[in-house]
Order: sequence, then C-alpha cells, then structure tokens
Amino acid sequence: MSDRRALLQTLPAIDRLLGSEVLTVLEQTQPHVLIRDAAQQTVDVLRQQLLDEQAPIPDLELEAVARLVAARVAEMAKPSLRRVINVTGTLLHTNLGRAPLCSDALQAIKAVAQGYSNLEYDLDAGKRGKRFTHVEELICKLTGGEAATVVNNNAGAVMLALAALSGGHSAIVSRGELIEIGGSFRIPDIMAASGVELVEVGTTNKTHLKDYANAIDDKTALILKVHTSNYRILGFTEAVSGEELAELAQQHRIPVLEDLGSGLLIDLTPFGLPREPTVREALKSGIDLVTFSGDKLLGGPQAGIIVGKRDVIDKLRKHPMARALRIDKLTLAALEATLRLYLDPQKALQQVPTLKMLSTSVAELQKSCEVLLPQIQEAVGAAADCRIVEATATVGGGALPLAELPGRAIALAPKDLSLNELTSRLRSCDPAVVGRIQDDLFLIDPRTLNTDDEAQLLQALQQVFTL
Ligand SMILES: *Cc1c(COP(=O)(O)O)cnc(C)c1O
Repeated sequence: MSDRRALLQTLPAIDRLLGSEVLTVLEQTQPHVLIRDAAQQTVDVLRQQLLDEQAPIPDLELEAVARLVAARVAEMAKPSLRRVINVTGTLLHTNLGRAPLCSDALQAIKAVAQGYSNLEYDLDAGKRGKRFTHVEELICKLTGGEAATVVNNNAGAVMLALAALSGGHSAIVSRGELIEIGGSFRIPDIMAASGVELVEVGTTNKTHLKDYANAIDDKTALILKVHTSNYRILGFTEAVSGEELAELAQQHRIPVLEDLGSGLLIDLTPFGLPREPTVREALKSGIDLVTFSGDKLLGGPQAGIIVGKRDVIDKLRKHPMARALRIDKLTLAALEATLRLYLDPQKALQQVPTLKMLSTSVAELQKSCEVLLPQIQEAVGAAADCRIVEATATVGGGALPLAELPGRAIALAPKDLSLNELTSRLRSCDPAVVGRIQDDLFLIDPRTLNTDDEAQLLQALQQVFTL
C-alpha cells in the first residue's frame, strides 16, 4: 500500500511528459491540444492503477509513459465517423449507414462539392432557380407522378405532408398501420408533432372501407395510409386498397397520403423477393401523395421523396417546414445520379449496390465463398477452422421484414479466442469489420462485402488472430 502511495509521487508531470522525445516528435504531426489531453488522461489512468491494489504496477519511466500517451493520441486522432466493412449480410443496416452509394453518385458528389454549382441557379435564364428541379422530372418520369419534391428524409416528408395538408385538423389512420420504425419514428408521435389530430379506425388486424367512411366528418383533413414495412399481420386480416381509399377521399374532397417506406421503383419479385407495392402502382391507384426514403431499397442517399398531384405538392412547398427540412446539395447530387440509373432498370440492377446485392444468386455467392475460403484460411492460419455454410441474408432498414435471401457464407470457428473477443477485436480494426454470430460461429457473408474491401478484410482477420 505505502509502496504504491510513494510511487504516486513519481508519476511524470505533464510538462515533463510533453518535453519527452516521443512527444516532441509527435508535436510535428498532431495538434498540441490532443497531445496535452492524452497526456492528462494517461496520467489519470496510471494514478487510478496505482490506487487499485489489484492492478499490476505500471512502468512509470518517462519514455514508457510518453509511448502510452502517443498510443492514446493515435486513438484520439482517428475520425469518429469511419468506414466499416459490413459482412453481416444485412443490406440496409441502419446502424451502418443504410445504402452504400453507386459510383455515379460518388462522382456527382465530388463534382458538385468541390466548387460552385447551379443548385438554385437557372443557367439558361441566368437567374434564380429552384433546387428541387434537378430531380423533379426524373422522379415524375420514374413514378408517373405529376410533381415531386425532396426533403431530408422520409420521416421529414411525412411530417411536412401532414403539417401542410391538415391545417391543424384531423387525419384518419387504420389501427393496423400505427407503426413504429427504428424506435423513434412512431406514427402517433409524428402526427402529434405535426399538429394533426389522429383519428384511429378499424382494429389491429381488420379495417374496412366503412370504418374510414364513418369516421369522416368536417374536421377530417386527410386520410393517411402507412405501409407496414417492418412487420406483417398474418391470418385473418383485411386492409383497404389504395383505389378504394382514393375513391372515398375524392367523394369528400380530401387528399390521401401514403407513406410507402422503402419506395420501390422496380418490381423485385423476379429475384425471389416478396411482392411490394411500387411507387408507380401507388400513384396509379389514385393516391394523391406518396412519400418514401432515398436510402432504403432505392439505394441512394438519405432523403425523403414526395411525389403526387401538382396542387398538393405546391401546398407542401409553400409550408415553412419545407425550408427547415430542405435537402443539401451533396444529397441532391447523389440522388440525381442514382435516379438516372433507374431510367435503364438493367443498369440500375448492375450499378446500384443495394439492388446488386439483392439480386446476387446463390451460385454467385457460392463462387465468392470458394474464392475467399482459402484466402481467409491462410490469413487466420491454424487459429480458426473455416468452412462454407448455408446462410440467409436479410434486407434490414425496416424493409421487407419477412424476406429471406438464401445464400452462402464463410463460417469461422476460432480455437483459442471467444467469439466475443473476436468480434470486439474486429470492430477495433481500421476499417472496422462487423459480421454476425450464428450457431457459435462467426459468419462472413460475401453478399454485403464490396470486392474492393476484400484485401482489408483479410488483413483485419490476420491481425486479430495474431494479436
Ligand atoms: C423507414 C420508414 C420511415 C422513415 O424513413 P426515414 O427515411 O428513415 O426517415 C417512415 N415510414 C415507413 C413506412 C418506413 O418504412
């Protein structure tokens, strides 16, 4: 005890540490504030260690402590937002940033971000233009809508539409569609925040047209239809179709808004995926306004796309919330480039990463695994057994909840390392590697692995097993 107390006196002072050779050299490349903070934190940790009877006694030599500080500086200097190699097999992992962008989108971002752009400037007329014009025509062409606008995300799109169309009155929603997505998007809360009174109709599993019809009164401003994108109610269910709702709403001269969630632009059933309504189908049924996300199955940047009848879109654009939710130029550049690919659906399937991953066949995945297996085995050496297993990927991001994408993955069974330790070490690599554990194996799903990232994945695996 007294030994440890005495050692406290020998902890190097911050100024002495900063004057050490290691840190003097480091000053040339790293900001002084980072080094100073790291030195303070390191000394604090060492002090705690000395006070803890159970902890080993640390090396308190000046240069040894300076090296600890340098290691801490290296950690602090890493960007907080950084790259992750996703081998989870979940395509639209919200925690991992949802959709990776296509290369056209990346180029468009670079071109627009590097200098000035015609974001709100009409180059033909030489006067002020409007930012949404860059995508409006494309969205209309791809969906059959009359007019379109875009905001920050789909949650914003729904809020804006509700606020602009309700005028403080009420909106009717089926009890079967009062969804929660990702914990913070809850229809009742979004409606309250938009100043709309929620009128619930029907039951959890069945809502009929007459339920809507009976609820309409002079306070009804609109009908909201919500796509139950992250769950299904099975068994005895009944929901009212878009056509029926549109007809009812027309009789009462109120609009119908549909929150489609993912907003498919092309039918994905040929790839074995469950049937989902496309934006075009929703609009064709007579729905006035459809909203959807840019970064779900569309495979673009985070955005909320709103498309529908011109008079309704005009109302939204004039609402003050439209300005608060406006989309930035980088997003707009990426969105336009992504949408352009959809003009040729074949091209979109090949070049939009989300669509490409969705449509990868089991045979292709088997082949990727066969190529990767010997490389991974070589990287991990005798530290783990590796083999190819059957694996099911999921879409994620609250889209197509029941869709199972059959495939293959490489399963790792580490010999002397717990799976928890393995995943923790992989997460601390740069880029970090995030995979999934299944049946006591660590799975590497090639479906979500970008070919360009393979070398770094192998490097990370080699590193974590030789630590
Ligand atoms: C995902 C989703 C949202 C939220 O969209 P964001 O783009 O994440 O804001 C809203 N409604 C439905 C039905 C969804 O699936």
